[in-house]
Amino acid sequence: MNTTFETILAIIRSRYGNGQIPLHAPVFRGNEKKYTNLAIDSTFVSSVGEYVNLAEKMLADFTGAKYAVATGNGTSALHAALVVAGVKANDFVLTQPFTFVATANAIAYCHAEPIFIDIEKDTLGISPEKLKSFLESESHLNANGECVHTKSGRIISACLPMHSFGLVGRIQEIADICAASHIILVEDAAESIGSYVGNTHTGLIGKLGTLSFNGNKTITCGGGGAIITNDEAIAKKAKYITTTAKVPHAYEFFHDELGYNYRLPNLNAAMLCAQIEQLEGFLKNKQETAQYYHEQFTKNKIEFVKNIEGTTSNYWLNCILLKDRNERDAFLKYSNENGVMTRPAWTLMSKLPMYENCIKGNIDNALEMENRLVNIPSSVI
Ligand SMILES: *Cc1c(COP(=O)(O)O)cnc(C)c1O
Repeated sequence: MNTTFETILAIIRSRYGNGQIPLHAPVFRGNEKKYTNLAIDSTFVSSVGEYVNLAEKMLADFTGAKYAVATGNGTSALHAALVVAGVKANDFVLTQPFTFVATANAIAYCHAEPIFIDIEKDTLGISPEKLKSFLESESHLNANGECVHTKSGRIISACLPMHSFGLVGRIQEIADICAASHIILVEDAAESIGSYVGNTHTGLIGKLGTLSFNGNKTITCGGGGAIITNDEAIAKKAKYITTTAKVPHAYEFFHDELGYNYRLPNLNAAMLCAQIEQLEGFLKNKQETAQYYHEQFTKNKIEFVKNIEGTTSNYWLNCILLKDRNERDAFLKYSNENGVMTRPAWTLMSKLPMYENCIKGNIDNALEMENRLVNIPSSVI
């Protein structure tokens, strides 16, 4: 038998015990049922209600954002964020090929097209060097100060990096590069609630950022998401277009632009409030797990992906790196057959049929990480 595989499973089991171990199970130990019942009693179960307001306030307080706008899921938050950022049909949006499909899909929902920039091996986020060299060689500013993809003449309106598995990319460098090219920065922070650069929460380095509360994320309300920002105009616009762009009136229905029904129902918001109350404790527990994994894997010469200096990861899903795709596949089979749920990283966006013809530079790091990375159990204990 492969002793490395046995060692990895022994380390995981020494943290999570001997039963079937899920990758990331939600934990409901707080006021979830109480608040959900109160929401039902109030009859306000849909997208207007006190829990929606409270959840937005709690999210703003937790992240340090001036504004939070709750949405039905993280994908709709991303789509609305790009619309608010001004992404138009035929634009290009810079993003990473190493991400969950929602990131690229949100761009396509705007009838815009992704351009894939490679990631870094240490942060699993967009490489500032490769972003910079792409923009220097492939783009210019036009007379209106817009960034133009020189070869096609199309506008590059936004950059959408993602904080992979809660690890934080070199986002300040990315922000500086985008600013120099007049590109608006939107952060997909779906996986990184509780992850920081210095004291700044992920999603707030750019103009706006998005969160997800899907069932497998650090906190969940069944389905949910949010846009966070420090910009009042952005927040107002986000709330407006996610509420069908309805002009306020006591009884008339008038909508003055294309809006969306993307608001978070009060029923889900009730659950979200209960989860946010427990978030600090969850994050502390996840830090302890990551710390334990890091020590044990390092001692056994197994590569564990750690946060870089100056950043805090929430360690949503812990990552180890195996030698190559063959070893990865053998380990996935072995661990899942032995009751320990593990998962590979996503198939790169640039390999999916919808995006295989999109522009991309050299993406060697993304290809390597796709082949070598495995997510291991990371639930709150
Ligand atoms: C989870 C996730 C989303 C949003 O997912 P929803 O299921 O729509 O809430 C977006 N981007 C990334 C990278 C994600 O992991």
